[in-house]
Amino acid sequence: MPSAPNAATASPPDVDRSASRGPADGADHATDRAVPAVARLIRTEIPGPLSRELAGRRSAAVAKGVASVLPIFAASAGDGVLTDVDGNTLIDLGSGIAVTSVGAAPEVIEAIREQAGAFLHTCFMIAPYEGYVRVCEELNALTPGDHDKRTVLFNSGSEAVENAVKVARHATGRPAIVAFDHAYHGRTNLTMALTAKAMPYKSGFGPFAPEIYRVPMSYPYRDPAGLTGPQAAARAIDQIEKQIGADSLAAVLIEPIQGEGGFIVPAPGFLPAIAAWCRANGVVLIADEVQTGFCRTGDWFAAEHENVVPDLVTTAKGIANGMPLAALTGRAELMDAVHPGGLGGTFGGNPVSCAAAIATIELMRSQDLAGTARRIGEAALPRLHSLAERTGVIGDVRGRGAMLAIELVRPGTNEPDPQLTAAVAAACHAAGVLVLTAGTYKNVIRLLPPLVIPPEVLDEGLSVLEATLERLVTEGS
Ligand code: PMP
Repeated sequence: MPSAPNAATASPPDVDRSASRGPADGADHATDRAVPAVARLIRTEIPGPLSRELAGRRSAAVAKGVASVLPIFAASAGDGVLTDVDGNTLIDLGSGIAVTSVGAAPEVIEAIREQAGAFLHTCFMIAPYEGYVRVCEELNALTPGDHDKRTVLFNSGSEAVENAVKVARHATGRPAIVAFDHAYHGRTNLTMALTAKAMPYKSGFGPFAPEIYRVPMSYPYRDPAGLTGPQAAARAIDQIEKQIGADSLAAVLIEPIQGEGGFIVPAPGFLPAIAAWCRANGVVLIADEVQTGFCRTGDWFAAEHENVVPDLVTTAKGIANGMPLAALTGRAELMDAVHPGGLGGTFGGNPVSCAAAIATIELMRSQDLAGTARRIGEAALPRLHSLAERTGVIGDVRGRGAMLAIELVRPGTNEPDPQLTAAVAAACHAAGVLVLTAGTYKNVIRLLPPLVIPPEVLDEGLSVLEATLERLVTEGS
């Protein structure tokens, strides 16, 4: 069996030919957390024969519009390691896009089992159940601000954002919504309008919803005017006042750290200035914490880093560690402005998803995973900065906690290098490390490891990324 090309000269992946560890390994971890004996184990070429066979079936059965990052098919996953159907194991620095933060936690699996044994679904709009209420209580307590709050549960981040817009419009009686450059809020019709990037998210899918206005973000690395946070906020506010007017504006919607747009951390003071203007003008501030929430950035929510208290908060992804669940949490007077029956859905707040969320939140609290996320950032950031110095192709290193990114540019410029970015990601995958890309200019490598990733697995994953980038830069120069 040929092994995959070894992109990482520093530490080659283990190449196992004994077949002692297969895809079935890891199936029985309900009471015992899976500790990977070997994090990277390339047994076949990538993709292996079983993945290739599934890829053939996939292309005959699955619509092309759904693309996948990896050419392999998953058999099991957890705690920073993903095993494919051919028995190859990859270090997972993506967590299914910031979802499986607590990994293969036995507590979550057990909670799912228990709830599944009791009932799968009644529809909360028909026969309510405690788990839904408990998740809402948790969110009301955990989201920023100690004001009176209410929560409603949904299935996806997009749906939570759609409903945030519904609530803001209903409560204010105003039509307009402001979103930012580089924003990503989803793929439904309304959230496509809120999302900034045309390709692949919007191209050919219009017409889009009206009364959505886009204003400039604070993107310190690429801000042509080099504005500080408060200056960048003033620029956005000026545009809002001139082009929309506060009287017509229901809400300003913002990701406290932009996700798909490239892990853009606004300059300090930007978010507080936007929040202050919203408050002064009766405009609802919606923080889209779908990607940043649930300890990812080193606090429960990213708005907390600058003591910003949003009026509405959307959450999803990490909330239930992989079970589909999303939420909208906000000021009681806004949320309760909507008439009974105005919000909801058949599956929203599914009881099994709620059970998973309760167990996930409990683990995050008891194990202080926000602290763990901060420590992941402290371990990784110096290495990424040093990599930037050594290679000369990283224009910016940024992020918070376990939400980290490098922006790749052509040496000596800030010109985006999407080709190098794609090459680095592909070579990391071939070497057994899953990294994701992002960014308006497709030139960002982003790291979203599970918060429970063992330090030595994270260390190895970073070593592969470093060696891969260094090799590609050397080869290209
Ligand atoms: N908002 C943000 C900030 C996101 O990152 C995403 C997903 N990437 C969404 C909304 C949409 O979430 P979903 O894919 O669950 O609809």
